[in-house]
Amino acid sequence: MTPPPKQLDFNALFLGPKSENYPFFKEMLGFLMDDHAQWRKDFHPDDKPAFSAREQEDPAFQETILRTRQALAELAGDLQLNSMPWFSPRYLGHMTMDTLMAANLGYMLTILYNPNNCAYEGGPATTALEIEVGRQLAALMGFDPKRAWGHITSGGTVANYEGLWLARNLKSVPRALKEAMPEAVAGLDDWALANVPVRRSLDLLEAAKAAGRFDAVRGRTARGTGLGGWKPGKVLVPQTKHYSWTKAMDVLGIGQDHLVQVRVGEDYRMDMGHLRELVEGLIQAREPILAVVAVVGSTEEGAVDPVHEVVRLRRECEERGASFYIHVDAAYGGYGRALFVGEDGRFMGLPETRKALRERRIDHAESEWPDPEVYEAFKAMSEADSITVDPHKMGYVPYAAGAVAVQDKRTVDLVSYFAAYVFEKKEENPLLLGSYILEGSKAGATVAAVWMAHKVVPLDVSGYGRLIGASIEGADHFYRSLLAAEAFEAGGRRFIVKPLVRPDFNVVDFAFNEAGGNDLDAMNSLNRRLYEAFSYKSGPVYAKDFITSKTSLDYAEYGDAPRAFVRSLGIPDAEWDRVRSVFVLRSCVLTPYLSKNTTYAEYWAGLLAALRAKLAEL
Ligand SMILES: *Cc1c(COP(=O)(O)O)cnc(C)c1O
Repeated sequence: MTPPPKQLDFNALFLGPKSENYPFFKEMLGFLMDDHAQWRKDFHPDDKPAFSAREQEDPAFQETILRTRQALAELAGDLQLNSMPWFSPRYLGHMTMDTLMAANLGYMLTILYNPNNCAYEGGPATTALEIEVGRQLAALMGFDPKRAWGHITSGGTVANYEGLWLARNLKSVPRALKEAMPEAVAGLDDWALANVPVRRSLDLLEAAKAAGRFDAVRGRTARGTGLGGWKPGKVLVPQTKHYSWTKAMDVLGIGQDHLVQVRVGEDYRMDMGHLRELVEGLIQAREPILAVVAVVGSTEEGAVDPVHEVVRLRRECEERGASFYIHVDAAYGGYGRALFVGEDGRFMGLPETRKALRERRIDHAESEWPDPEVYEAFKAMSEADSITVDPHKMGYVPYAAGAVAVQDKRTVDLVSYFAAYVFEKKEENPLLLGSYILEGSKAGATVAAVWMAHKVVPLDVSGYGRLIGASIEGADHFYRSLLAAEAFEAGGRRFIVKPLVRPDFNVVDFAFNEAGGNDLDAMNSLNRRLYEAFSYKSGPVYAKDFITSKTSLDYAEYGDAPRAFVRSLGIPDAEWDRVRSVFVLRSCVLTPYLSKNTTYAEYWAGLLAALRAKLAEL
């Protein structure tokens, strides 16, 4: 008999909704404090203490200590009164859940050393860890770890900025070459200069290096000359984009007018027909395309764009002399790639993935997750130029931990502000992270938290794959309950509920309507009031039975994508045309515990009862 496959017990990963793992956690806290205190003592053990035990008895000393004690007690009270109970399966709101004990302990231990990863000197240990986790994330994205690189950012927003920063500077390389090293791009007209493929631009830069002309060329890229009259081109994003893209266009000087929204379908995935139409139109008009952004796990719906189709489209464009940068915004869904990575690091086939999960007691048999389009999208991420992936979302790591992974580390030279060619030094550790990332001083503790998480939870099907697989299973239970829910009675009225769309990942959006109700304003107001009852802003959180989040799907952002959903709730099309906005409840199911049938059944029964009671009141 073959031994059972390796798998993590996620009961041992978190402190737990009832602090089930408190004894272990506390023991580790004691260990890390003792360990750190001893470290201080061991640094020149013969040095005298700075103050004596006698001095510690001084009334002023006692008074000062008391301040810390009191401030801490005040903070503790404030936090207990005004915090979200993320840890509980009763919380299905934003993209957050309990964080891994390993990550929390790593953070707590490291914060005592207060390392700063801006420069190597500020944190030798954690700078090395950052390079290591950057490489791990790049490998998870399917990039070749020898050619790729990645690093930790404060979040997905900054990671998106960095992706666009690289894209912008890269797009200006051929133009810079034309000025500073014209022989390298001889014969290329303006259109051709604006459409040099990413890889080719980087090869040209390397040639400039070899010719000793690198600094001259780089000085003529957008980073040196600014945009001036130059237009880097359009950035195409799906309507489901995170608003950080709008900010990025502003911050990087490209301008929000150059952000082009691609329609999404009723499944909230980027509509490839529309993308093709837009790309074709831009090519016909000789308007360069700076980048196409695909989203893997949209913020409001968890939708997964067809990355593979975007990659294919670029290939087709390149055959016709047009090219663009591809960034995948997988801030939310990025860690989900672990579902498909076997313990040998290989990206598995679809049946193989299903089997590997089944063997680890995550059975997506009913949902048949993922559908082949979602599978292909995850697979094709390895073809992107850069990817945003947030450890503080599906990595179950505390804030603030985002990350960006880049396919070709030669891009770094385009943004570096110290020695050029940072990766050409013998030691692979770039010593001055701060000189070629957007941020400066940054917490080494965050990096340690990510490193610990990856150490305990492997970035493959046995680790994150199983954990996230369980969260998807929980989301699917929820989706199915909503789908199957019959009209029910509350306070003498009858209500129906519908899920927005079958989840690509683990976000479930849904809305209620009074049976027979045909007024969209009334339906929106009903769901808004439900949201108010099932959300938390301030005051005693103990009074809350269930917590969810919400979103509004408006015509301005989503076009007609929500029309069919609104119709499914019995609202006539004319109402959608009149109101053009639908308010929905939104549940990000990050917890793995709702994959358990018994826990889930209790959850659903409790939620339904609470909803009924509330509906009866409204
Ligand atoms: C959350 C999110 C972001 C922004 O990430 P932060 O860590 O909040 O800065 C960007 N894109 C997507 C798709 C997201 O879900």
